[in-house]
Amino acid sequence: MEKISVIVPCYNEEEVLPLFYEEVTRVAAQLSDYEFEFLFVDDGSRDKTLPVIKGLAEKDARVKYVSFSRNFGKESAMYAGFDRAVGDYVVVMDADLQDPPALLPEMLDAIKNEGYDSVATRRVTRKGEPPIRSFFARCFYKLMRRISKTEIVDGARDYRLMTRQFVDSLLAMGEYNRFSKGLYGWVGYRTKWLEFENVARAAGETKWSFWKLLLYSIDGIVAFSAAPLAIAVVTGLACFLLALVFILFIVVRTLMFGDPVAGWPSLVCIILLIGGLQLLCIGILGEYLAKTYLEVKGRPIYICKETNTCENDR
Ligand code: UDP
Ligand code: MG
Repeated sequence: MEKISVIVPCYNEEEVLPLFYEEVTRVAAQLSDYEFEFLFVDDGSRDKTLPVIKGLAEKDARVKYVSFSRNFGKESAMYAGFDRAVGDYVVVMDADLQDPPALLPEMLDAIKNEGYDSVATRRVTRKGEPPIRSFFARCFYKLMRRISKTEIVDGARDYRLMTRQFVDSLLAMGEYNRFSKGLYGWVGYRTKWLEFENVARAAGETKWSFWKLLLYSIDGIVAFSAAPLAIAVVTGLACFLLALVFILFIVVRTLMFGDPVAGWPSLVCIILLIGGLQLLCIGILGEYLAKTYLEVKGRPIYICKETNTCENDR
């Protein structure tokens, strides 16, 4: 019998976990041709998430868990899930029921009968989300489409069913700065997109502040595009050429009309402009350098404190 691993990253989800478990087991019961494994990754929660998961594991042998030593972020939680999942098919689902488990049979069908390697989901509306957040999210995806060769789809969720081969390819990318939406696109394979309407969180609240999302989007840009570096080079070059023209102009003017002292305000403006540009470009360089530094250190992507999964235990 083939096995499906359901990976659920959880960070302070005590309220919603029982609801999630109920819903996902209901869907699992419909798919009686498959064995299931529910792999909860407790991402250093500070509430009762871990005891709740352990409670579920006592009742149901299909429930597995990995508990981190601190909060490592959702990307690390997903990686840990891929790392420990043993299923022939692997699906990642949010604990808050924003990724409807009821889509699972349809997703499975696309892999089994239509020859896809993965089935991804995107939400077509952003209903129930603050408008300013939607606006910036749209801008981010537009920008990414221009500056990155890797396909990153607007509204894509991390909710995705994958074959074992797909998951192994993801695991082969052991980078520390993980941006899944890009990694999924980078590995290639054939992906089918299912669309659904945005669903509001079943309980609890979102873990992503605007600031956290902004930093995450910068991670995404740095991880999947070198365009900011090229932009810095082009801007620098343009400034340099402009300066050459100005110098020529000033030399010629001085030779023809003498040198009346004037124009220090414009000088200050130009110094500020160039100084600002230089700082910006150094900042961009610094972003890439910092990421390289983190990669080079080769730190583990997550640290497991407690688990009931036995294989490749580190
Ligand atoms: N999550 C996590 N670690 C974090 C933040 C979030 O594992 O540091 C999990 C969270 O428990 C949930 C999923 O990632 O299952 C999505 O988080 P959330 O619903 O807060 O994000 P949103 O749906 O608002 O984008
Ligand atoms: Mg959510």
